[in-house]
Amino acid sequence: MNRRGLLVVVSGFSGSGKGTLMKLLMEKYDNYSLSISATTRSPRPGERDGLEYFFKTQEEFLQMIREDAFIEYARYVDNYYGTPKDYVEKQLDAGKDVILEIEMQGALKVKEKMPQTLLIFVTPPTAEELKRRLVSRGTESEEVVAARMAQAKEESRFMDCYDYILVNETNQEESCMERLHELIQSAHQETSRNEEFIEEMREQLKNI
Ligand code: 5GP
Repeated sequence: MNRRGLLVVVSGFSGSGKGTLMKLLMEKYDNYSLSISATTRSPRPGERDGLEYFFKTQEEFLQMIREDAFIEYARYVDNYYGTPKDYVEKQLDAGKDVILEIEMQGALKVKEKMPQTLLIFVTPPTAEELKRRLVSRGTESEEVVAARMAQAKEESRFMDCYDYILVNETNQEESCMERLHELIQSAHQETSRNEEFIEEMREQLKNI
């Protein structure tokens, strides 16, 4: 069977709870690697450089773009975010399933470049619930909440470009994380991801 890792993109509205899902997934299963992005946004309280993100100045980020260090990068609500190339390739080669928790423009760029990528979109059950979660997070100003709701409205136009929609019900993070795990594991067994295995089996059957 196919032993190279699978590249999985998890996107979702800001406030969909995908960060918590990623944390639960990493704690429970050790066959996943979460890629750490670079960003020009300021750290939120409790965030540390090299753990949630590599925090960069605009100048440093632009330099990384010039060095072709990213698989993709995008501007999102006035900041740059990008996926460093090196780490992802190494982890895939080592057979790990690599998860990119990135926004939509980046997700679609990755799918275009690497069509085998699995795209999963996480959403709360309703728009009202999305707003409630953003407000209760308490780390964003009113303007930022409004900007993120406007962004969500725009992003909802492209939700159907994803392979799967994952509804993250309130206080059901654990079961949502298990569904995410099952989706990824099922994808490994899709025929389109096992062409080499199929060919090999055909050859063996010819020669037996
Ligand atoms: P936040 O500022 O809330 O941490 O992230 C804002 C958005 O940027 C989220 O949707 C997050 O998934 C996305 N994001 C984080 N890292 C990357 C990246 O490397 N590339 C892209 N395109 N988006 C990213």
